[in-house]
Amino acid sequence: MLQVHQFPCLSDNYGFLIRDEATGTVASIDTPDAGAIARQLDDLGWPLHLILNTHWHPDHVGGNAQLKQRFDCEVVGPAGERDRIPGIDRVVDEGDVVDVGASRAQVLHTPGHTLGHVVYHFADQQRAFVGDTLFAMGCGRLFEGSAEQMWASLSRLRAWPDATRLYCAHEYTQANARFALSVDGENSALRARAREVDAQRARGEPTVPTTLALERATNPFLRADDAALQAALDMPDAPPASAFGELRRRKDAF
Ligand code: ZN
Ligand code: FE
Repeated sequence: MLQVHQFPCLSDNYGFLIRDEATGTVASIDTPDAGAIARQLDDLGWPLHLILNTHWHPDHVGGNAQLKQRFDCEVVGPAGERDRIPGIDRVVDEGDVVDVGASRAQVLHTPGHTLGHVVYHFADQQRAFVGDTLFAMGCGRLFEGSAEQMWASLSRLRAWPDATRLYCAHEYTQANARFALSVDGENSALRARAREVDAQRARGEPTVPTTLALERATNPFLRADDAALQAALDMPDAPPASAFGELRRRKDAF
């Protein structure tokens, strides 16, 4: 099993250090801030064997070079973005597996936010590190991909079991809830969750990880094929990717 050590860094990113308990193998999911990650490792007394990058954006790979220099760790990243991942040693793509000691992740290619974005799914532990593909009640902006691509990517995540814990790379949840309420305000699960999130944040608590059950019930970007939500968008019977695209456009302008 994995131990997951999560900590806030930069303005709204999360760092995740994962340690396979059977072997002591340690990986960092992305490298938002080398200094912060190294300090956390020192405090925990953990080495660093692997970096698992989700995509090329600087708040996800910015610490690669410095951490690799200090820890001599292996950098793993998406094949489609190999030229933009500093220090990359091994590329991964759809269907590959990555072993963190005795814990195995399946790699899914989830284009949309960027074209090469990958997520790491530890299926037998019901945990996934989803980068900027999915956020609590939100999803990544479409910087490189199309609405069709992102809808297809999110639909694959949505098929995972209810209990799957989703480790998103940013704490955007309160702002996402405000937008979600603007398009899906009749959704009682969403209203209850928005109140709970406000209370969590007021106590200084993270809202990450989230679970797939919660996201299915409250995340409008996973509900683009829901009849009530499509009616609220005034897009009855729309192809889901079109409704998804409309949601993303409204969120960008929100
Ligand atoms: Zn990003
Ligand atoms: Fe990011």
